[in-house]
Amino acid sequence: MSHSRSPTLKRRVAEAERVFQLLCNRARDEPGPQLPCDEWHECERLARLLDRCRARHWRAAERIVRTRLANAVGALAGQLAFVRGDLLTQPPASPCVTRGDVLADLAALAAEFSSVTLEAGELVVGTEPIELENFWLGPFELRFDLARRTEGEGALRVVALEPSPARLGDDVTHPHVSGERLCAGDGRLPLAKALAEGRLLDAVTIAAQVLRSYNPDSAYVALDDWDGVSCSECGEVVDGDAATSCAACNDDVCRECAVTCEECDDLLCSHCATTCHGCSAVLCSHCADACAVCGQLTCEACRDDDRRCPDCRAPETNDDEEEPRDSDADALAAAPAAGPPASAADVPRGP
Ligand SMILES: [Zn+2]
Ligand SMILES: [Zn+2]
Ligand SMILES: [Zn+2]
Ligand SMILES: [Zn+2]
Ligand SMILES: [Zn+2]
Repeated sequence: MSHSRSPTLKRRVAEAERVFQLLCNRARDEPGPQLPCDEWHECERLARLLDRCRARHWRAAERIVRTRLANAVGALAGQLAFVRGDLLTQPPASPCVTRGDVLADLAALAAEFSSVTLEAGELVVGTEPIELENFWLGPFELRFDLARRTEGEGALRVVALEPSPARLGDDVTHPHVSGERLCAGDGRLPLAKALAEGRLLDAVTIAAQVLRSYNPDSAYVALDDWDGVSCSECGEVVDGDAATSCAACNDDVCRECAVTCEECDDLLCSHCATTCHGCSAVLCSHCADACAVCGQLTCEACRDDDRRCPDCRAPETNDDEEEPRDSDADALAAAPAAGPPASAADVPRGP
């Protein structure tokens, strides 16, 4: 039996002891039930006040105090019901397992998983690389915070070691993992119970089973949408190839929602596209230029050499093109406006 004292076994026993102590930690830290003493004292105070009102025949005051006492008793009853619920549902403060159970669980885990270690209060179990429906998601680490064993899924972090996240969100590293939190679905209650009772092998097996299976109904991101992107315009999730990113703001847009700048052919979302004031052509912000006179955005074709839009061109161009302007009363009135000083000077010079 000399090998039963081998360093490996001694190390394993010591590790199991540390794990067991961590599982027991909560029993020491957890405060007992919080009885509603403040609410009770308020009821006592109001009851004394009510007695005084009745002794002195203060009818109106008695009515008011009676109502306040009734409300205070209601608040006390609510708090008591809350405490009672806690007492009946809270998992045991001490783990249900023994040191021997922990030792056996750790040995079983070491045999089944690629790695089992204890790091800063966390039991860390490495999984094999996970592949679901031809999507390679890589290996994961299940990290159980043992002192928080009564918090169910909250005590567990799932860390992707070679993350291959959904395109929709970097923190979704697995259809059932978002922000390192596991959504165990149907496994949630069994996992919480196993953890609360300190049954480590069961807890790890349940969590690993969730990682190895795929349920599209409870997925943060369905595998069908794994390589998909969400169009910033219509919200539709489309395949990565069927979407483009706006050349200006980089938002993802589907082919249907994207518009093309008619000058440089850049693809844009509708928020980053503008239209030419002259011809209504779709333009990006680089190709649209403000008219030097009115400031309206125009395309290159609609601007003249002086960067003016069609509306603001030189008046003589307008006069040539638009015949009616010549006979316009405004046009006639405008001509003499510049004339009078000249003609006034001519008149005295003539005679
Ligand atoms: Zn769209
Ligand atoms: Zn944009
Ligand atoms: Zn452009
Ligand atoms: Zn134009
Ligand atoms: Zn203009």
